Amino acid sequence: MNKVTIVGSGNWGSVAAKLIASNTLKLSSFHDEVRMWVFEETLPTGEKLTEVINQTNENVKYLPGVKLGKNVVADPDLESAVKDANMLVFVTPHQFMEGICKRVAGKIRTDAEGISLVKGMEVKKEGPCMISTLISNQLGINCSVLMGANIANEIAMEKFSEATVGYSQNKEAAEKWVQLFNTPYFNVTSVQDVEGVEMCGTLKNIVAVAAGFVDGLEMGNNTKAAIMRIGLKEMIAFSRLLFPSVKDSTFFESCGVADLITTCMGGRNRKVAEAYAKNGGKRSFEELEAEILRGQKLQGVLTAKEVYEVLTARGWVELFPLFRAVYEISTGVQPPSAIVEFSNNKPSSH
Ligand code: NAD
Ligand code: 13P
Repeated sequence: MNKVTIVGSGNWGSVAAKLIASNTLKLSSFHDEVRMWVFEETLPTGEKLTEVINQTNENVKYLPGVKLGKNVVADPDLESAVKDANMLVFVTPHQFMEGICKRVAGKIRTDAEGISLVKGMEVKKEGPCMISTLISNQLGINCSVLMGANIANEIAMEKFSEATVGYSQNKEAAEKWVQLFNTPYFNVTSVQDVEGVEMCGTLKNIVAVAAGFVDGLEMGNNTKAAIMRIGLKEMIAFSRLLFPSVKDSTFFESCGVADLITTCMGGRNRKVAEAYAKNGGKRSFEELEAEILRGQKLQGVLTAKEVYEVLTARGWVELFPLFRAVYEISTGVQPPSAIVEFSNNKPSSH
């Protein structure tokens, strides 16, 4: 019998718990109970978040007003949360994943399978490392990914959307993940291109920051569409340079162009970048993130920095003027208006 644990309980983590918990009740090959590891915190009321989730069946901080399912059990102890599961769902902001993997290594079942819903990457001395690879390497398990046009609050309201599972070899495991996530309002398909799917989810957050700058400067729809088009080209080019095996077709799945569109229209990266540009770059992203997102985390600004490190290390900076502009604007080297000036030194082709 399959036993599922979710590592993470933020905005998307909580929605993932709701989706999964509705399915484990229906599918006989899964234990009903879904464990959810919660990074414990004390609420302004003085109560522990975990206790409130277990009493009310709601993540009052990261997904207020939505019932997760009575079979979701919040657990503040990471090691106890993962030890019995053979299906591990990783869904935290990417900057915490390395520390989490170190704590979990050697403490999980040897037959466990993983899936990463984390959009982001790590950059090490040896080069870039995707989060699914970090999980595979550190935990010694196979790890698929699930990415898509998935603004969590909309899926929590059961509005129809799609997602893409990316896998490398194990199609059977991928089909089990599809079964676990798929609902009438959440249509999941799988493709054999783990790198392509994960690169899409990771890189679109940089383009969303650029789209937010355009919104903050009130440059209009045509400019935003141009930024999205150029951003998509850079996403494809960068993905191909790092992983020549990525498939063109992956960019047309939910994880590709659809996620790019939804994130540039309605995501958190867009929203905070808009505020940054409106303030003329005078208030930092950290300050705006804390004020606007209240504990939720941005991925795009860190990813722009991480990708820029790869570009400089490999001598590719000139090939990616949009990614470079997002990095330079978000670190205060350039003003927000530079988001359209980069096109003066646009490379001739990718
Ligand atoms: P979130 O942005 O709501 O992040 C907050 C979470 O981080 C909370 O659970 C908090 O407890 C936890 N946290 C804070 N400090 C921590 C620490 N030191 N160690 C570990 N955890 C800590 O989280 P989210 O929205 O669930 O995002 C997780 C991933 O899912 C990200 O990569 C994001 O890009 C991706 N994603 C998010 C959405 C969305 O709409 N929210 C949709 C698709 C994918
Ligand atoms: P944001 O983190 O910008 O809200 O994007 C969420 C997302 O990944 C939608 O698919």
